[in-house]
Amino acid sequence: MSRELTGKVAFVTGGGSGIGEATSIAFADEGASVVIVDFDLAGAERVAATIVSKGGLAQAIKADVSDDASIGDAISQTIAKFGRLDIAVNNAGIGGDMAPTGDQSVSGWRKVMGVNLDGVFYSMRHEIPAMLKSGGGSIINMASILGAVGFANSAGYVTAKHGVVGLTKNAAIEYATQGIRVNAIGPGFINTPLLSALPADSLAGIASLHPMNRLGQSREVADLVVFLASEKASFITGSYYPVDGGYLAR
Ligand code: NAP
Repeated sequence: MSRELTGKVAFVTGGGSGIGEATSIAFADEGASVVIVDFDLAGAERVAATIVSKGGLAQAIKADVSDDASIGDAISQTIAKFGRLDIAVNNAGIGGDMAPTGDQSVSGWRKVMGVNLDGVFYSMRHEIPAMLKSGGGSIINMASILGAVGFANSAGYVTAKHGVVGLTKNAAIEYATQGIRVNAIGPGFINTPLLSALPADSLAGIASLHPMNRLGQSREVADLVVFLASEKASFITGSYYPVDGGYLAR
């Protein structure tokens, strides 16, 4: 059976955990070589080992997306190892401080913007030239349902994710005739380590905000990422796709 991404090279930030881990494994299952980039090198190496144990090709790289030079170096390492870049998933993210806007600290705001918005821009400014040299590609930015609506006590996170959707649209327009498609995904609340700080009763409350009355699973997001990365999505660019159990339909 032919696989969707045979011969492609994919770059996944935050690939050592949660949605990025599921995406990296799904890419490898479809035949891509996968570069797993994470602040947490042990997590990235664990995911790379899982892929290699199944006969795939993978490379773990430690990098910080909030540092332009660090992510630029990760792209250089990717080209040195695999010679090209076809797919990039800008997924690394943090939750950010929970406080009403008037009580948000400047340092908390800067931190979440630095990873969740600046990090996507820094990644794209290194990925795009590499993709142009490779003849085009697909960029998928991990926004959130909170890229479309607000969520009390999360001003920095919500602002950064709305920004990711805008950045996605802009780059899509700029590169549409040069073979690079750029899309964003808006997951609802997904059962990953990102939510592990929350107590069980608040998780049940969060699950009930989704009409399906449950949290999503990382694989349910990864399946959409694989579709957008593949040639099946050849006429899709500049869009934002929720995968949210109906959250935004309310
Ligand atoms: P996760 O399990 O915490 O995984 C995120 C990974 O990114 C972690 O390995 C983390 O490393 C890494 N990371 C954090 N800051 C980084 C940086 N500056 N540079 C490089 N890597 C960094 O989170 P997830 O739930 O899979 O989230 C992935 C993405 O989906 C995020 O952008 C998040 O905002 C978005 N999202 C998640 C949900 C959800 O409910 N889970 C919903 C909507 C959108 P450390 O562990 O060392 O921090």
